[in-house]
Amino acid sequence: MRCPLCKKPAPRDGNPDWPFCSERCRLLDLDNWLTGRYRVESALDPSGSTDGSGAREIRQLADELTPPSVDGEFKGERD
Ligand SMILES: [Zn+2]
Repeated sequence: MRCPLCKKPAPRDGNPDWPFCSERCRLLDLDNWLTGRYRVESALDPSGSTDGSGAREIRQLADELTPPSVDGEFKGERD
């Protein structure tokens, strides 16, 4: 196993920072992860407006994936 950050060999045995080679690399990766997460969250709402158009699209997709006849059949089978 190599350190995902600096690509140096990172031994697993007795290494509290595994899979990273050192605490420094572990903290750097955590920092990268948090920074990237915040960037993604702000990208979801770039204009600051929440009209819910994205949620509406997902609900439409879910309706297409579950035909109402299937739901009725399952209710009949239930004990
Ligand atoms: Zn490293």
